[in-house]
Amino acid sequence: MYLRQFLVGPLQNFTYLVDDGEGGPAVVIDPSYGVEPVLEAIDERRVKVQYILNTHSHQDHWAGNADVRARTGAKVVAHRLADLHQDVAVDDGSVVESGRLKVTVVHTPGHTPDSVLYLFEGHVATGDTLFVGTCGFVTPPGPVGAGAMYDSLHGKVLALADAVVVLPGHDYGPTPTSTIGRERAENEALRPMTKEEFLRFMES
Ligand SMILES: [Zn+2]
Repeated sequence: MYLRQFLVGPLQNFTYLVDDGEGGPAVVIDPSYGVEPVLEAIDERRVKVQYILNTHSHQDHWAGNADVRARTGAKVVAHRLADLHQDVAVDDGSVVESGRLKVTVVHTPGHTPDSVLYLFEGHVATGDTLFVGTCGFVTPPGPVGAGAMYDSLHGKVLALADAVVVLPGHDYGPTPTSTIGRERAENEALRPMTKEEFLRFMES
């Protein structure tokens, strides 16, 4: 598997290109503003992008969908609740296959009701659910969103193995990537706490 992280656009977004080798099938995760370097890499590697995987419906995570789609004909994958053009609507447990690459969808509401993780070959693309060192804001703000985020982080994210590499949606942390083990130890949002403590943490 070949994986490349691109820092693009004005909001420090990360877009990812994942493929099976030069000339093979590929996926692009969260094409943001300024996807030209991603399009160049797609051309250079002569890969066939089959799917665009969007972690959630905020525009900075799909602003480049149309350009990638126009160039490659890729199908857009997003959670069924996501308010964006989608060709393949997914939900918790859905699997998207591109060549030998098998991507499992984990629904993690909190940042938005339509937020998902994409889990593949020891890596997890976390969008704005988990950043290196912290987590995203919640929608709706207050206990409903924060309660959902707690269940997603402390239920689903912390259930992942320590060795899994974290691929966040933005370059907001001290390093561009991390691991679940490191985040389990260092991320302020993943500290052992009750839901009540987490609600207070999100308010502060
Ligand atoms: Zn977002």
